[in-house]
Amino acid sequence: MTEKVEKTEEQWQEELTPEQYEVLRRKGTERPFSGELNFNKESGMYRCAACGSDLFSSDAKFDSGTGWPSFTEPAETPNILLEPDNKFGMKRTEVVCATCGGHLGHVFDDGPGPTGQRYCINSASLEFDKET
Ligand code: FE
Repeated sequence: MTEKVEKTEEQWQEELTPEQYEVLRRKGTERPFSGELNFNKESGMYRCAACGSDLFSSDAKFDSGTGWPSFTEPAETPNILLEPDNKFGMKRTEVVCATCGGHLGHVFDDGPGPTGQRYCINSASLEFDKET
């Protein structure tokens, strides 16, 4: 099991940028095509912007055309949690960082490839670690 990261909202607010805080701690959604990692095609690991946990490999990234970074599967299944989200009259599945509880995005069943899944993730919740 990975060690949990727990901080007060004041601490998160100090450490994160306003955009990161809005997504990760307040479950916000960035505007489509606004995130800097949406079009990123470099090889490497996408980590949680709040706690640094490995979330998605560039191998699983695909161009969904939605305007948000999209992945077919998580890098390590235990690193994410899936929670039912029925807000706004929609039945969706929220994707949460298992280590720090940060909101990442949602997962849908219309993805390509063997998993059939599309992890639709806010760029603001991720930091990219380029493979060297
Ligand atoms: Fe995290």
